[in-house]
Amino acid sequence: MKRVYTADSIAMAWHIHNVLEQHDIASTVRNDRLYSAAGELPVTECLPEVWVSHNQDVKWAEQIVYDLNFDKEGLPDWKCAACSEDNAGNFEFCWNCQKPNNKEE
Ligand SMILES: [Zn+2]
Repeated sequence: MKRVYTADSIAMAWHIHNVLEQHDIASTVRNDRLYSAAGELPVTECLPEVWVSHNQDVKWAEQIVYDLNFDKEGLPDWKCAACSEDNAGNFEFCWNCQKPNNKEE
């Protein structure tokens, strides 16, 4: 197990997890239960983290995470048509229900 990402939001952590899964990389989100109280800021040590299960996947996972963060900055946030969750502009799929972002709307 190795941590490949520390997210500043639970949505981002799950998004990373989902994308890694699409690449057949097994991963786990940790510290994802701290956001249940709306509006409460988490302490830094408890930010959500994404851990890759198998060491041989770590390098690839880190590359994927890197590309995700730096490829598509500046895109507008979007709201999922299926579940109404807010998603960051660089999310291709809803972090919550994995529906693709429908840009035709
Ligand atoms: Zn959704």
